[in-house]
Amino acid sequence: MPIAMNVQLLARAEAAYLGLAIGDALGATVEFMTPAEIARQYGVHRHIVGGGWLKLKAGQVTDDTTMSWALGDAIRQAEGRVEALACAIAFDTWMRGKPVDIGNTVRRNLIQFRRSGMAEAPPSEHDAGNGAAMRVLPVALAYLGEDEAALRAACRTQAHVTHHNPVSDAACEFIALAVRDAVLGADLRQLYRGRIKPLLAAFPQFAYRKRRQENPSGYVVDTLQCVLQALMDTGSFKDCLTQVVNCGGDADTTGAIAGMLAGALYGPTALPEAWVQALLPEVRQRCVNQARQLVACGLLRTLSQATPPGQRAAA
Ligand code: MG
Ligand code: MG
Repeated sequence: MPIAMNVQLLARAEAAYLGLAIGDALGATVEFMTPAEIARQYGVHRHIVGGGWLKLKAGQVTDDTTMSWALGDAIRQAEGRVEALACAIAFDTWMRGKPVDIGNTVRRNLIQFRRSGMAEAPPSEHDAGNGAAMRVLPVALAYLGEDEAALRAACRTQAHVTHHNPVSDAACEFIALAVRDAVLGADLRQLYRGRIKPLLAAFPQFAYRKRRQENPSGYVVDTLQCVLQALMDTGSFKDCLTQVVNCGGDADTTGAIAGMLAGALYGPTALPEAWVQALLPEVRQRCVNQARQLVACGLLRTLSQATPPGQRAAA
């Protein structure tokens, strides 16, 4: 791979991670508000100012970003692999650190993990919340060079620690594959043809044009419909994120997922400088560092799995 391509790939990986944090920080201000309430209070909500029901500092992030960091650290420690027990321990350690917010399904299944030691939650038709999908970005970045089946399996492994549900799985796999395609250079039209259409064919409940998603819930179908509407309705990172968070509801999570997709898709130059600078410096640094580390350890692992040319000739 030419060096220039590597640099671009790394920049898009960083933009995806910063996009996740920007969407989280921007959306958290209006989480659980309706579009009408947002319009009354902000007109159009477009500044990272903190506040919201969590009373955040401006530029602070929530579980969407901090759980992603926990997963990313677990992947790095496992030399670029996603291992169920390492993920469960990382999420449990994260919960012990008293995060600013935590989803009900995440809490319930991590408490169950403490009791049973089983890293995989039992399958549940009720566990189709968006908590596994919102944190899937590190898997995409660590599996850039892997085949699709390996990436899908890794998505499910991390997801099943807290959300063992086929609809959650479909969302996690879609997001990771779409982010990966975008990091590797796919444009919006290619994402639509290669990932969105096949998702809708296999899981028609994600059809996102049936009704306008306003006030999307934490149900991953509502969440992803709102994200897909914003992604397909707009042509820039800024417009995509502005649309998605002004729908209200689970706005930090729709913001986070839209942010990772649009960040990878439109790249670092599309991130509004005011939003990047509004993130707390430690948040910005951790996102950039982890993006670089995950890409590097994933590529190293892929290289080490490949048969060296000398051995190929001898075989
Ligand atoms: Mg959150
Ligand atoms: Mg949320």
